[in-house]
Amino acid sequence: MWKNLKETILDAFWPKRCVNCNKLGQCLCADCFSLIDILREPSYEKFRHLDGLHAATAYNDKMVKSIIHLCKYNRLKELAPHLADLIIAHFKLLDNQTLLSSRLFSENQGCSDLIVCGVPMHRKKLKNRDFNQSEEIVRHFSEEFGLFFVPGLLLKTKTTRPQAELTKEERMENVLNAFEINPLFKQLVKDKEVLLIDDVFTTGATMEECAKILKQNRASRVWGAVVARG
Ligand SMILES: [Zn+2]
Repeated sequence: MWKNLKETILDAFWPKRCVNCNKLGQCLCADCFSLIDILREPSYEKFRHLDGLHAATAYNDKMVKSIIHLCKYNRLKELAPHLADLIIAHFKLLDNQTLLSSRLFSENQGCSDLIVCGVPMHRKKLKNRDFNQSEEIVRHFSEEFGLFFVPGLLLKTKTTRPQAELTKEERMENVLNAFEINPLFKQLVKDKEVLLIDDVFTTGATMEECAKILKQNRASRVWGAVVARG
């Protein structure tokens, strides 16, 4: 109730505007959302640890890139649900074409053994940014499909350099052994499928390292889903 009241007051004094066209209403309006090209295909390439990847859009889409940057670096947390909506739109376009999409839309709750989690952030970075955009995207995504979201399933225990500054080899080295499973959830992932969600997939070093940890803890399958692929 307090949250709604706070939002109503904030909306009255600082009404939301679309970050793309400045129209009053939402921070990303439906017209601008509809301009984004949603990918209709999952990736069938072979990964080291991931069993498959779903990318909702291409990172070279200027609007997508700008929304991700605003969410991440300008701390516009309210953009996270719109980023999740892009992944949801991608799965809707796929409908029943893939194992994962058919399970998400299955009417007899075929997702009870599917856990959803985000790519973790180091606690020092989280302190500076206030929120983990990846987990904010997962929160909205899991609500849409009624999935089991486990915040903090993975922990980032090593501080790393920003991946964007590095080459492919350096990125792999940078995130090597940077993640651990939260000891509280060690037993939880055993024999379960996990859907790991992040904002961007470039070389895949981060997602692969997270998938490696989940597999070491005996997750049966690890899928990846991202807002944009670079
Ligand atoms: Zn707009």
